[in-house]
Amino acid sequence: MKTIIEPFRIKSVEPLRMTTRDEREDKLRAAGFNVFHLHSADVLIDLLTDSGTGAMSSEQWAGIMRGDESYAGSPSYYRFRDRLREITGFEGILPTHQGRASERILFELLGGPGKVVPNNAHFDTTRANVEHSGARAIDLMIPEAREPRNRHPFKGNMDVAALERLIAEFGSDAVPAVMCTVTNNSGGGQPVSLENLRAIRAVCDRHGIPLFLDACRFAENAWFIKQREPGQGDRPVRAIVRDMFDLADGATISAKKDGMVNIGGVLLLRDPELLHRASDVLILTEGYVTYGGLAGRDLEAMAQGFEEVLHEDYLEYRVRSTQYLGDKLVAQGVPILEPPGGHAVYLDAKAFCPHIPVGEFPGQALTVALYREAGIRACEIGSVMFGGGGHEPPPMELVRLAIPRRVYTQSHIDYVIEAIVAVHRRASELRGLRIVEAPQVLRHFTARFEEM
Ligand SMILES: *Cc1c(COP(=O)(O)O)cnc(C)c1O
Repeated sequence: MKTIIEPFRIKSVEPLRMTTRDEREDKLRAAGFNVFHLHSADVLIDLLTDSGTGAMSSEQWAGIMRGDESYAGSPSYYRFRDRLREITGFEGILPTHQGRASERILFELLGGPGKVVPNNAHFDTTRANVEHSGARAIDLMIPEAREPRNRHPFKGNMDVAALERLIAEFGSDAVPAVMCTVTNNSGGGQPVSLENLRAIRAVCDRHGIPLFLDACRFAENAWFIKQREPGQGDRPVRAIVRDMFDLADGATISAKKDGMVNIGGVLLLRDPELLHRASDVLILTEGYVTYGGLAGRDLEAMAQGFEEVLHEDYLEYRVRSTQYLGDKLVAQGVPILEPPGGHAVYLDAKAFCPHIPVGEFPGQALTVALYREAGIRACEIGSVMFGGGGHEPPPMELVRLAIPRRVYTQSHIDYVIEAIVAVHRRASELRGLRIVEAPQVLRHFTARFEEM
């Protein structure tokens, strides 16, 4: 069979609302040309993020009913904890309300002025939390990752030689942890190989530095390893996942991605002393250690979601349907970051609208155009997200089309392809933007713009 079908059927539906072009023009102006300010009811196909936007299964909804809301020691917590132990092999498992809460706790304990945290590519909230602690966040992607048309199979890999140089430059005492993001979100949803993780681990061991995974998309990463890494093709995804976690001293996870839930996060820690201190901060700022700022029902949904995400027919469908979008766009001459990532396709805005200089935010201009044309909401991952505040412009100007899990069908995606191709044909008409209002940190969420 050539067709990869959705390995589920639909039990409950949500109607979509169509808008006219004039309506969308008004909404864009009211939103200050920032799609984060749009009302989602005015969006037809919402590809802003795959975070917390997935559809839960009937078993997850059953878990929602089963949830036990005891303050301490709820059976829902133990189900969640045991599932995570079984998958990751970690003993120290803390629930948090989402990924950035795990990051904030970790960097409150490990960060601070004078510290340097290397990562293959920090995501926006990770970078912001590292920097909020006073530490520096440094990205060490392999050079191939900066070339949009390079089809390297593991473009998420860290440049291990650059990691060695960084440790030599700052000294191992200044590096409280090495982070590795699987899959790498800001660099295109690209996977990291087991070989690369082992090489990073070896460097960490030589210098006595702990290795932490930003493991939001650990299952998608493991699926890519199974597909692409020599010698891994016959291994169960679960075994590959276990290898990934075995290499780490800890992990931050947003369960809103591969946890397949609408809210939730996890912090995994091996060191008992660090776990103890993290538990204290968790109780102070999130909630008691057996619920971490969540309801018991959320823990049930996570316990089930982390199980379902490892079903290989699901992962095959997931990664192939993202590839479908990417491959069709490439076939029609639309420049994307190749190869397509696991959770998203990233349009290469610099190549899409070469007439717009980086200072006028080509990614933002393209994001605006997609909504204007077809009611599609995408997310700029470029100079709006990572510029400003004295930062260098990022190496690429991207527009991420993130695919919510188990939500849209192939005809929705075909509509998206038609719309993007139509915008691409008239790309020379797109106009740059200037910022009229922006906060100090994470400015992409709230900045307002004006068209040039
Ligand atoms: C989503 C994400 C985070 C942050 O998680 P939240 O649940 O949004 O707080 C951190 N790192 C990566 C790679 C992510 O994709």
